[in-house]
Amino acid sequence: MTLSIRAALAWLGPGRLVQDAQVVCDGGVITYAGPATPISDADETLDVGGFLMPAVADRHVHIELSDPAAVLRGGVTAVRDLAWPPERIFPLADASELPSYRGPLIRAAGPMLTGHGGYPTGDAWAPPGTGRELTGADDATGVVRDLAGRGATAIKVSLNIEAGPTPTDAELAAICDEANRHDLPVTAHAQGAGQVERALGAGIDELAHTPWTRLSDEVIQTAAARMRIVSTLDILSFGRDTPQIRTAIDNLRRFHTAGGKVIYGTDLGNGPVPPGIHTREVLLLRDAGLEPEEILDAMVRAPMDLDAPADLIALARSPLDDLAAFDDLRLVVRAGGVVLAR
Ligand SMILES: [Zn+2]
Repeated sequence: MTLSIRAALAWLGPGRLVQDAQVVCDGGVITYAGPATPISDADETLDVGGFLMPAVADRHVHIELSDPAAVLRGGVTAVRDLAWPPERIFPLADASELPSYRGPLIRAAGPMLTGHGGYPTGDAWAPPGTGRELTGADDATGVVRDLAGRGATAIKVSLNIEAGPTPTDAELAAICDEANRHDLPVTAHAQGAGQVERALGAGIDELAHTPWTRLSDEVIQTAAARMRIVSTLDILSFGRDTPQIRTAIDNLRRFHTAGGKVIYGTDLGNGPVPPGIHTREVLLLRDAGLEPEEILDAMVRAPMDLDAPADLIALARSPLDDLAAFDDLRLVVRAGGVVLAR
């Protein structure tokens, strides 16, 4: 099944803007992306007129707290679930690989590794098993090995000292060692005094949220060299002006200026985050100083290279001129199949 899409403008990846563009998908992957070319044997041809780009990946969600079909129709074709009971999320992640699945491709961390009685074991949003209470360094090693064997694509750690006990330093070291052995990134929910510093000291790869208490310039510099940050800005304010959102934007702006890698994530499932592309999160990335093209780069699942997944979206106009264009979604394609066309 060959699908050919023409667009007035296409963004294939950083620095690769093509006018009068054509993208061809076959077998779930991109087989051509570039200037319009006469290809006669496509089974289906679409002309979207507007702006074509790779589809979006949301790298911080809790997918069972949302509607997977609405997430996909909203232009998000891949998600990373960062805390859910393993016996529920890993089978769902497997199921999401089938073309018949009505939702995004799901990658998952499984449970959040935490201290005895620590976050999120007592939280209403988290079903039993969302937090895994560690009982020592050997236990931590075994849990990470088990999660790697079940297909985890990241390891999530709770460093929320405000909500309860966190893993010990020995457990953290064991987690990072074992995750390294399996090439898995470790991502942390860091909340409370000194927790970002602890994450840095342990060699954690990523913060699952932009911190909303002020980080010193020194911590920001070190973090920018060693870590990436998943944005999740809008959950700090949901469109209002709060001290938390101001501090988080200031942290993220300094992190970005220092060369730190920012990626798009919404914490979907936490409060009134809409399924699909969340334009307010996009606009907050701009407030943190990212250029439009850097924002697109932070959002997409993968650039439109040959053999990349044929996951695409089209907008009525270019988000490089106006980021609010993400509210005007015209086409969603996942694995070469049209999910939405209007
Ligand atoms: Zn979360």
